[in-house]
Amino acid sequence: MSSAGGDTIVLKNGRRITAETVTEDAEHVTYLTPAGQLSLPKSIVARIEKDDFGYSSASHSSEPPVSAPEIEPVRGYEDVAALAVHDNQIDFGYIARLESDARSGGATGVAKVAAAHYAAAQFLVGKGDTNTAIDHYREALAFAPDNAGLLLNLAVLYLRQSQFTAALDPLERARRLQPDSADVAKLMGWAYYGANKMDRAIEEWQRALKLRPDAEVKAALEKAQRDKAEEESYREGETAHFDLKYNGSATPDLARGILRALEDDFRDLESQLDYTPVESIPVILYTEQGFADITRAPGWVGALNDGRLRIPVQGLTHVTPELAHVLKHELTHSFVGQKSHNRAPTWLQEGIAQWMEGRRSSSDAGALMDAAGRGLAPSLAAMDGSWMGLSGNAAAFAYAWSLAVVESIIDAGGVGDISRLLDRVASAPSTEIALRETLRLGYDDLNQQTIAYLKRAYLR
Ligand SMILES: [Zn+2]
Repeated sequence: MSSAGGDTIVLKNGRRITAETVTEDAEHVTYLTPAGQLSLPKSIVARIEKDDFGYSSASHSSEPPVSAPEIEPVRGYEDVAALAVHDNQIDFGYIARLESDARSGGATGVAKVAAAHYAAAQFLVGKGDTNTAIDHYREALAFAPDNAGLLLNLAVLYLRQSQFTAALDPLERARRLQPDSADVAKLMGWAYYGANKMDRAIEEWQRALKLRPDAEVKAALEKAQRDKAEEESYREGETAHFDLKYNGSATPDLARGILRALEDDFRDLESQLDYTPVESIPVILYTEQGFADITRAPGWVGALNDGRLRIPVQGLTHVTPELAHVLKHELTHSFVGQKSHNRAPTWLQEGIAQWMEGRRSSSDAGALMDAAGRGLAPSLAAMDGSWMGLSGNAAAFAYAWSLAVVESIIDAGGVGDISRLLDRVASAPSTEIALRETLRLGYDDLNQQTIAYLKRAYLR
Protein backbone atom coordinates (compact mmCIF):
# COMPACT_ATOMS: atom_id res chain seq x y z
CA MET A 1 0.00 0.00 0.00
CA SER A 2 1.18 3.46 -0.66
CA SER A 3 1.30 5.93 2.17
CA ALA A 4 -0.39 9.30 2.23
CA GLY A 5 2.58 10.75 0.40
CA GLY A 6 0.45 12.39 -2.25
CA ASP A 7 1.23 12.73 -5.93
CA THR A 8 4.60 13.29 -7.49
CA ILE A 9 5.23 16.12 -9.92
CA VAL A 10 8.12 15.14 -12.16
CA LEU A 11 9.92 18.10 -13.70
CA LYS A 12 11.65 17.91 -17.05
CA ASN A 13 14.96 18.40 -15.29
CA GLY A 14 14.32 15.19 -13.38
CA ARG A 15 13.45 16.77 -10.06
CA ARG A 16 10.53 15.15 -8.25
CA ILE A 17 8.17 17.13 -6.02
CA THR A 18 5.84 15.21 -3.75
CA ALA A 19 2.69 17.17 -3.22
CA GLU A 20 -0.92 16.93 -2.25
CA THR A 21 -3.94 18.02 -4.19
CA VAL A 22 -2.27 18.50 -7.54
CA THR A 23 -4.43 20.32 -10.05
CA GLU A 24 -3.69 21.73 -13.46
CA ASP A 25 -5.05 24.34 -15.80
CA ALA A 26 -3.93 25.43 -19.24
CA GLU A 27 -0.66 26.94 -18.05
CA HIS A 28 0.09 25.84 -14.52
CA VAL A 29 0.32 22.84 -12.28
CA THR A 30 -0.79 23.86 -8.81
CA TYR A 31 -0.22 21.94 -5.60
CA LEU A 32 -0.48 22.28 -1.86
CA THR A 33 2.48 22.29 0.49
CA PRO A 34 2.64 22.97 4.23
CA ALA A 35 3.66 26.50 3.20
CA GLY A 36 0.58 27.05 1.09
CA GLN A 37 -0.34 26.74 -2.54
CA LEU A 38 2.46 26.76 -5.10
CA SER A 39 2.31 26.56 -8.82
CA LEU A 40 4.71 25.63 -11.58
CA PRO A 41 4.60 26.60 -15.23
CA LYS A 42 3.52 23.56 -17.24
CA SER A 43 6.42 24.06 -19.59
CA ILE A 44 8.81 22.65 -16.99
CA VAL A 45 6.62 19.75 -15.86
CA ALA A 46 7.24 16.40 -17.52
CA ARG A 47 4.36 14.58 -15.85
CA ILE A 48 2.40 13.98 -12.69
CA GLU A 49 2.53 10.56 -11.08
CA LYS A 50 -0.57 9.86 -9.07
CA ASP A 51 -0.31 8.14 -5.75
CA ASP A 52 -2.31 5.11 -6.92
CA PHE A 53 -1.33 2.87 -9.79
CA GLY A 54 -3.17 5.06 -12.20
CA TYR A 55 -1.43 7.74 -14.05
CA SER A 56 -2.15 11.26 -15.06
CA SER A 57 0.18 13.71 -16.61
CA ALA A 58 0.53 17.41 -17.02
CA SER A 59 1.48 19.53 -19.98
CA HIS A 60 2.10 17.91 -23.32
CA SER A 61 1.96 14.33 -22.11
CA SER A 62 -1.49 14.58 -20.54
CA GLU A 63 -2.76 12.80 -23.60
CA PRO A 64 -0.85 10.36 -25.75
CA PRO A 65 0.86 12.40 -28.47
CA VAL A 66 -0.30 9.87 -31.06
CA SER A 67 -2.87 7.09 -31.05
CA ALA A 68 -1.99 3.42 -30.92
CA PRO A 69 -2.18 1.61 -34.26
CA GLU A 70 -4.43 -1.45 -34.35
CA ILE A 71 -2.22 -4.43 -35.01
CA GLU A 72 -3.32 -8.05 -34.98
CA PRO A 73 -0.39 -10.31 -34.12
CA VAL A 74 -1.90 -13.21 -36.10
CA ARG A 75 -4.81 -13.47 -38.50
CA GLY A 76 -7.41 -16.11 -39.07
CA TYR A 77 -7.63 -17.52 -35.56
CA GLU A 78 -11.02 -16.12 -34.55
CA ASP A 79 -11.98 -19.58 -33.31
CA VAL A 80 -9.01 -19.63 -30.94
CA ALA A 81 -9.89 -16.16 -29.62
CA ALA A 82 -13.47 -17.27 -29.00
CA LEU A 83 -12.26 -20.29 -27.01
CA ALA A 84 -9.63 -18.34 -25.03
CA VAL A 85 -12.13 -15.78 -23.78
CA HIS A 86 -15.75 -16.73 -23.30
CA ASP A 87 -18.53 -16.05 -20.81
CA ASN A 88 -16.75 -12.90 -19.73
CA GLN A 89 -13.67 -14.74 -18.53
CA ILE A 90 -10.34 -16.11 -19.70
CA ASP A 91 -10.19 -19.88 -20.17
CA PHE A 92 -6.80 -20.59 -18.60
CA GLY A 93 -7.18 -24.34 -19.10
CA TYR A 94 -7.60 -23.86 -22.82
CA ILE A 95 -4.56 -21.57 -23.05
CA ALA A 96 -2.48 -24.05 -21.05
CA ARG A 97 -3.39 -26.81 -23.51
CA LEU A 98 -2.41 -24.58 -26.46
CA GLU A 99 0.92 -23.86 -24.83
CA SER A 100 1.55 -27.52 -24.22
CA ASP A 101 0.80 -28.26 -27.91
CA ALA A 102 3.05 -25.43 -29.04
CA ARG A 103 5.97 -26.79 -26.99
CA SER A 104 5.95 -29.94 -29.09
CA GLY A 105 6.65 -27.75 -32.09
CA GLY A 106 4.87 -26.39 -35.09
CA ALA A 107 4.21 -22.91 -36.41
CA THR A 108 0.47 -23.31 -36.15
CA GLY A 109 0.67 -24.15 -32.46
CA VAL A 110 2.73 -21.03 -31.82
CA ALA A 111 0.30 -18.87 -33.79
CA LYS A 112 -2.59 -20.25 -31.77
CA VAL A 113 -0.84 -19.38 -28.50
CA ALA A 114 -0.24 -15.86 -29.79
CA ALA A 115 -3.89 -15.51 -30.81
CA ALA A 116 -5.12 -16.79 -27.43
CA HIS A 117 -2.91 -14.49 -25.37
CA TYR A 118 -3.77 -11.58 -27.63
CA ALA A 119 -7.49 -12.24 -27.05
CA ALA A 120 -6.90 -12.48 -23.29
CA ALA A 121 -4.88 -9.27 -23.26
CA GLN A 122 -7.52 -7.39 -25.26
CA PHE A 123 -10.16 -8.64 -22.83
CA LEU A 124 -8.11 -7.44 -19.81
CA VAL A 125 -7.38 -4.06 -21.34
CA GLY A 126 -11.13 -3.66 -21.80
CA LYS A 127 -11.48 -4.28 -18.08
CA GLY A 128 -8.70 -1.81 -17.27
CA ASP A 129 -6.24 -4.46 -16.07
CA THR A 130 -3.23 -3.39 -18.09
CA ASN A 131 -0.66 -5.11 -15.89
CA THR A 132 -2.13 -8.56 -16.39
CA ALA A 133 -2.56 -7.84 -20.09
CA ILE A 134 1.17 -7.13 -20.24
CA ASP A 135 1.83 -10.53 -18.65
CA HIS A 136 -0.15 -12.21 -21.43
CA TYR A 137 1.90 -10.54 -24.16
CA ARG A 138 5.10 -11.52 -22.42
CA GLU A 139 3.98 -15.13 -22.18
CA ALA A 140 3.01 -15.10 -25.85
CA LEU A 141 6.40 -13.64 -26.76
CA ALA A 142 8.13 -16.49 -24.96
CA PHE A 143 6.63 -18.70 -27.68
CA ALA A 144 6.76 -16.22 -30.55
CA PRO A 145 9.69 -13.86 -29.90
CA ASP A 146 9.71 -12.66 -33.49
CA ASN A 147 6.07 -11.65 -33.67
CA ALA A 148 6.23 -7.91 -34.33
CA GLY A 149 2.49 -7.54 -33.69
CA LEU A 150 2.87 -8.88 -30.15
CA LEU A 151 5.87 -6.62 -29.58
CA LEU A 152 4.01 -3.52 -30.76
CA ASN A 153 0.91 -4.31 -28.71
CA LEU A 154 3.09 -4.83 -25.64
CA ALA A 155 4.87 -1.53 -26.32
CA VAL A 156 1.54 0.29 -26.57
CA LEU A 157 0.53 -0.94 -23.11
CA TYR A 158 3.83 0.26 -21.63
CA LEU A 159 3.38 3.59 -23.38
CA ARG A 160 -0.14 3.97 -21.98
CA GLN A 161 1.33 3.36 -18.54
CA SER A 162 4.03 5.93 -19.24
CA GLN A 163 6.69 3.25 -18.89
CA PHE A 164 8.63 4.75 -21.75
CA THR A 165 11.92 2.97 -21.17
CA ALA A 166 10.17 -0.37 -20.85
CA ALA A 167 8.37 0.37 -24.13
CA LEU A 168 11.64 0.88 -25.98
CA ASP A 169 12.76 -2.72 -25.54
CA PRO A 170 9.92 -4.36 -27.52
CA LEU A 171 10.03 -1.47 -30.01
CA GLU A 172 13.72 -2.01 -30.72
CA ARG A 173 13.09 -5.71 -31.19
CA ALA A 174 10.23 -4.89 -33.57
CA ARG A 175 12.46 -2.54 -35.55
CA ARG A 176 15.00 -5.29 -36.11
CA LEU A 177 12.19 -7.40 -37.55
CA GLN A 178 10.55 -4.58 -39.55
CA PRO A 179 13.04 -1.76 -40.17
CA ASP A 180 10.63 0.09 -42.45
CA SER A 181 7.55 -0.04 -40.26
CA ALA A 182 5.88 3.37 -39.91
CA ASP A 183 4.08 2.03 -36.82
CA VAL A 184 7.38 1.23 -35.09
CA ALA A 185 8.67 4.74 -35.81
CA LYS A 186 5.40 6.31 -34.67
CA LEU A 187 5.48 4.44 -31.35
CA MET A 188 9.21 5.02 -30.86
CA GLY A 189 8.47 8.73 -31.25
CA TRP A 190 5.84 8.42 -28.54
CA ALA A 191 8.30 6.63 -26.23
CA TYR A 192 11.04 9.23 -26.69
CA TYR A 193 8.57 12.09 -26.42
CA GLY A 194 7.27 10.69 -23.15
CA ALA A 195 10.80 10.17 -21.88
CA ASN A 196 11.44 13.82 -22.73
CA LYS A 197 14.08 12.98 -25.33
CA MET A 198 12.83 15.49 -27.87
CA ASP A 199 15.64 15.03 -30.38
CA ARG A 200 14.98 11.33 -30.66
CA ALA A 201 11.20 11.83 -30.78
CA ILE A 202 11.56 14.31 -33.64
CA GLU A 203 13.88 11.90 -35.47
CA GLU A 204 11.43 9.01 -35.16
CA TRP A 205 8.37 10.97 -36.22
CA GLN A 206 10.23 12.39 -39.22
CA ARG A 207 11.12 8.83 -40.13
CA ALA A 208 7.48 7.74 -39.68
CA LEU A 209 6.28 10.51 -41.99
CA LYS A 210 8.74 9.48 -44.67
CA LEU A 211 7.44 5.92 -44.50
CA ARG A 212 3.76 6.87 -44.46
CA PRO A 213 1.91 10.21 -44.49
CA ASP A 214 0.00 10.65 -41.22
CA ALA A 215 -1.67 13.90 -40.11
CA GLU A 216 -1.55 12.86 -36.47
CA VAL A 217 2.19 12.18 -36.54
CA LYS A 218 2.74 15.46 -38.38
CA ALA A 219 0.92 17.38 -35.61
CA ALA A 220 2.87 15.50 -32.91
CA LEU A 221 6.14 16.27 -34.69
CA GLU A 222 5.33 19.98 -34.82
CA LYS A 223 4.50 20.00 -31.12
CA ALA A 224 7.73 18.18 -30.27
CA GLN A 225 9.67 20.77 -32.25
CA ARG A 226 7.99 23.58 -30.29
CA ASP A 227 8.68 21.83 -26.98
CA LYS A 228 12.29 21.41 -27.93
CA ALA A 229 12.65 25.11 -28.68
CA GLU A 230 11.08 25.95 -25.33
CA GLU A 231 13.36 23.58 -23.48
CA GLU A 232 16.41 24.97 -25.15
CA SER A 233 15.58 28.39 -23.80
CA TYR A 234 15.06 26.85 -20.38
CA ARG A 235 18.44 25.17 -20.45
CA GLU A 236 20.13 28.34 -21.66
CA GLY A 237 21.26 29.07 -18.11
CA GLU A 238 22.56 25.63 -17.47
CA THR A 239 25.12 25.94 -20.21
CA ALA A 240 26.45 29.38 -19.26
CA HIS A 241 27.54 30.45 -15.77
CA PHE A 242 24.24 29.59 -14.14
CA ASP A 243 22.12 26.60 -13.48
CA LEU A 244 18.60 27.92 -13.06
CA LYS A 245 15.84 25.95 -11.39
CA TYR A 246 12.28 27.05 -10.93
CA ASN A 247 10.71 26.35 -7.62
CA GLY A 248 7.31 27.91 -7.39
CA SER A 249 5.57 30.03 -9.95
CA ALA A 250 7.82 31.65 -12.46
CA THR A 251 7.31 32.27 -16.12
CA PRO A 252 9.88 31.28 -18.74
CA ASP A 253 10.06 34.98 -19.68
CA LEU A 254 11.01 35.93 -16.15
CA ALA A 255 13.57 33.12 -16.01
CA ARG A 256 15.19 34.26 -19.23
CA GLY A 257 15.21 37.87 -18.00
CA ILE A 258 16.86 36.78 -14.78
CA LEU A 259 19.52 34.80 -16.60
CA ARG A 260 20.28 37.71 -18.89
CA ALA A 261 20.61 40.08 -15.92
CA LEU A 262 22.83 37.60 -14.08
CA GLU A 263 25.12 37.15 -17.07
CA ASP A 264 25.58 40.93 -17.27
CA ASP A 265 26.23 41.09 -13.54
CA PHE A 266 28.66 38.20 -13.85
CA ARG A 267 30.80 40.03 -16.38
CA ASP A 268 30.78 43.19 -14.28
CA LEU A 269 31.77 41.38 -11.08
CA GLU A 270 34.42 39.40 -12.92
CA SER A 271 36.23 42.61 -13.84
CA GLN A 272 35.56 44.51 -10.60
CA LEU A 273 36.68 41.71 -8.31
CA ASP A 274 39.28 40.27 -10.68
CA TYR A 275 37.90 36.80 -10.21
CA THR A 276 35.94 34.16 -12.13
CA PRO A 277 34.03 31.53 -10.17
CA VAL A 278 34.99 28.10 -11.44
CA GLU A 279 31.75 26.24 -10.89
CA SER A 280 28.47 27.20 -12.49
CA ILE A 281 26.26 28.94 -9.94
CA PRO A 282 22.92 27.36 -9.01
CA VAL A 283 19.96 29.75 -8.95
CA ILE A 284 16.58 28.80 -7.55
CA LEU A 285 13.46 30.91 -7.98
CA TYR A 286 10.86 30.69 -5.23
CA THR A 287 7.42 31.91 -4.47
CA GLU A 288 7.56 33.74 -1.13
CA GLN A 289 5.87 30.94 0.76
CA GLY A 290 8.16 28.35 -0.73
CA PHE A 291 11.16 30.50 0.08
CA ALA A 292 10.23 30.98 3.75
CA ASP A 293 9.36 27.31 4.04
CA ILE A 294 12.60 26.03 2.59
CA THR A 295 15.09 28.57 3.90
CA ARG A 296 13.63 29.06 7.39
CA ALA A 297 15.16 32.54 7.29
CA PRO A 298 13.91 35.42 9.43
CA GLY A 299 11.24 37.61 7.87
CA TRP A 300 13.66 40.40 7.03
CA VAL A 301 15.64 38.23 4.67
CA GLY A 302 14.69 39.08 1.09
CA ALA A 303 16.81 36.54 -0.72
CA LEU A 304 19.59 34.20 0.26
CA ASN A 305 22.85 32.88 -1.00
CA ASP A 306 24.01 29.68 0.66
CA GLY A 307 25.99 28.53 -2.33
CA ARG A 308 22.79 28.70 -4.32
CA LEU A 309 21.13 31.97 -5.19
CA ARG A 310 17.68 31.61 -3.66
CA ILE A 311 15.49 34.33 -5.08
CA PRO A 312 11.82 34.86 -4.21
CA VAL A 313 9.94 35.96 -7.31
CA GLN A 314 6.28 35.54 -6.46
CA GLY A 315 4.04 37.71 -8.57
CA LEU A 316 6.87 38.96 -10.79
CA THR A 317 6.65 38.63 -14.56
CA HIS A 318 9.83 40.50 -15.48
CA VAL A 319 13.03 41.78 -13.91
CA THR A 320 12.04 44.89 -11.97
CA PRO A 321 14.69 47.36 -10.72
CA GLU A 322 14.27 45.88 -7.21
CA LEU A 323 14.81 42.35 -8.50
CA ALA A 324 17.86 43.53 -10.47
CA HIS A 325 19.35 44.81 -7.20
CA VAL A 326 18.62 41.54 -5.45
CA LEU A 327 20.26 39.54 -8.25
CA LYS A 328 23.42 41.61 -8.28
CA HIS A 329 23.56 41.52 -4.48
CA GLU A 330 23.18 37.76 -4.25
CA LEU A 331 25.56 37.07 -7.12
CA THR A 332 28.17 39.24 -5.41
CA HIS A 333 27.95 36.88 -2.44
CA SER A 334 28.89 34.00 -4.74
CA PHE A 335 31.97 35.84 -6.01
CA VAL A 336 33.01 37.01 -2.55
CA GLY A 337 32.38 33.57 -1.08
CA GLN A 338 34.40 31.71 -3.69
CA LYS A 339 37.21 34.25 -3.93
CA SER A 340 37.66 34.27 -0.13
CA HIS A 341 37.24 30.49 0.12
CA ASN A 342 34.10 31.19 2.13
CA ARG A 343 36.10 32.96 4.82
CA ALA A 344 34.84 36.51 4.33
CA PRO A 345 33.08 37.71 7.51
CA THR A 346 29.42 38.71 7.25
CA TRP A 347 30.05 42.47 7.47
CA LEU A 348 32.50 42.29 4.55
CA GLN A 349 30.17 40.06 2.54
CA GLU A 350 27.14 42.30 3.08
CA GLY A 351 29.09 45.52 2.65
CA ILE A 352 30.48 44.44 -0.72
CA ALA A 353 27.16 42.96 -1.87
CA GLN A 354 25.31 46.22 -1.13
CA TRP A 355 28.01 48.32 -2.75
CA MET A 356 27.93 46.17 -5.91
CA GLU A 357 24.14 46.32 -6.14
CA GLY A 358 24.53 50.10 -6.23
CA ARG A 359 23.55 51.09 -2.71
CA ARG A 360 25.32 54.00 -1.02
CA SER A 361 25.21 55.34 2.54
CA SER A 362 23.61 58.71 1.71
CA SER A 363 20.25 58.22 3.43
CA ASP A 364 21.73 56.33 6.40
CA ALA A 365 24.82 58.51 6.92
CA GLY A 366 23.14 60.85 9.43
CA ALA A 367 21.87 58.03 11.63
CA LEU A 368 25.23 56.20 11.47
CA MET A 369 27.21 59.28 12.47
CA ASP A 370 24.69 59.93 15.21
CA ALA A 371 25.18 56.42 16.61
CA ALA A 372 28.97 56.72 16.30
CA GLY A 373 28.87 60.07 18.09
CA ARG A 374 27.11 58.40 21.02
CA GLY A 375 29.75 55.66 21.11
CA LEU A 376 27.39 53.13 19.49
CA ALA A 377 29.42 52.30 16.40
CA PRO A 378 29.15 48.50 16.14
CA SER A 379 32.16 46.27 16.68
CA LEU A 380 33.19 44.66 13.40
CA ALA A 381 34.32 41.57 15.30
CA ALA A 382 30.77 41.17 16.60
CA MET A 383 29.50 41.34 13.01
CA ASP A 384 31.90 38.66 11.71
CA GLY A 385 29.54 35.72 12.20
CA SER A 386 25.98 34.98 11.17
CA TRP A 387 23.32 37.69 11.43
CA MET A 388 20.40 35.30 11.35
CA GLY A 389 19.70 35.84 15.04
CA LEU A 390 19.43 39.62 14.70
CA SER A 391 16.16 41.51 15.01
CA GLY A 392 14.99 43.52 12.01
CA ASN A 393 16.32 46.80 13.45
CA ALA A 394 19.66 45.38 14.49
CA ALA A 395 20.04 43.78 11.08
CA ALA A 396 19.22 47.06 9.31
CA PHE A 397 21.90 48.82 11.37
CA ALA A 398 24.45 46.07 10.69
CA TYR A 399 23.79 46.30 6.94
CA ALA A 400 24.08 50.08 6.93
CA TRP A 401 27.31 50.07 8.92
CA SER A 402 28.87 47.36 6.75
CA LEU A 403 28.10 49.32 3.61
CA ALA A 404 29.69 52.44 5.09
CA VAL A 405 32.82 50.45 6.00
CA VAL A 406 33.20 49.04 2.49
CA GLU A 407 32.49 52.46 0.98
CA SER A 408 35.30 53.92 3.05
CA ILE A 409 37.74 51.20 1.91
CA ILE A 410 36.87 51.79 -1.75
CA ASP A 411 37.01 55.55 -1.23
CA ALA A 412 40.53 55.22 0.16
CA GLY A 413 42.03 52.73 -2.28
CA GLY A 414 39.53 51.71 -4.95
CA VAL A 415 37.78 48.40 -5.58
CA GLY A 416 41.22 46.86 -6.07
CA ASP A 417 41.70 47.03 -2.30
CA ILE A 418 38.57 44.91 -1.82
CA SER A 419 39.92 42.39 -4.30
CA ARG A 420 43.31 42.19 -2.56
CA LEU A 421 41.64 41.98 0.85
CA LEU A 422 39.48 39.04 -0.26
CA ASP A 423 42.49 37.19 -1.66
CA ARG A 424 44.27 37.62 1.66
CA VAL A 425 41.19 36.67 3.73
CA ALA A 426 41.17 33.35 1.87
CA SER A 427 44.40 32.25 3.54
CA ALA A 428 45.07 34.58 6.51
CA PRO A 429 44.46 33.28 10.07
CA SER A 430 41.79 35.97 10.61
CA THR A 431 40.07 38.80 8.75
CA GLU A 432 41.72 41.38 10.98
CA ILE A 433 45.18 40.00 10.18
CA ALA A 434 44.32 40.06 6.47
CA LEU A 435 43.14 43.64 6.91
CA ARG A 436 46.41 44.65 8.58
CA GLU A 437 48.48 42.94 5.91
CA THR A 438 46.66 44.47 2.96
CA LEU A 439 45.31 47.84 4.18
CA ARG A 440 47.44 48.34 7.30
CA LEU A 441 44.28 48.77 9.38
CA GLY A 442 42.88 47.00 12.45
CA TYR A 443 39.15 46.72 13.15
CA ASP A 444 39.15 49.87 15.32
CA ASP A 445 41.14 51.79 12.71
CA LEU A 446 38.66 50.74 10.08
CA ASN A 447 35.73 51.98 12.16
CA GLN A 448 37.51 55.33 12.67
CA GLN A 449 38.22 55.56 8.94
CA THR A 450 34.53 54.87 8.29
CA ILE A 451 33.32 57.65 10.61
CA ALA A 452 35.78 60.10 9.03
CA TYR A 453 34.63 59.04 5.58
CA LEU A 454 30.93 59.48 6.42
CA LYS A 455 31.60 63.00 7.72
CA ARG A 456 33.64 63.95 4.70
CA ALA A 457 31.31 62.42 2.11
CA TYR A 458 27.87 63.15 3.55
CA LEU A 459 28.05 65.88 6.18
CA ARG A 460 27.13 69.20 4.68
ZN1 LIG B 1 23.41 39.88 1.45
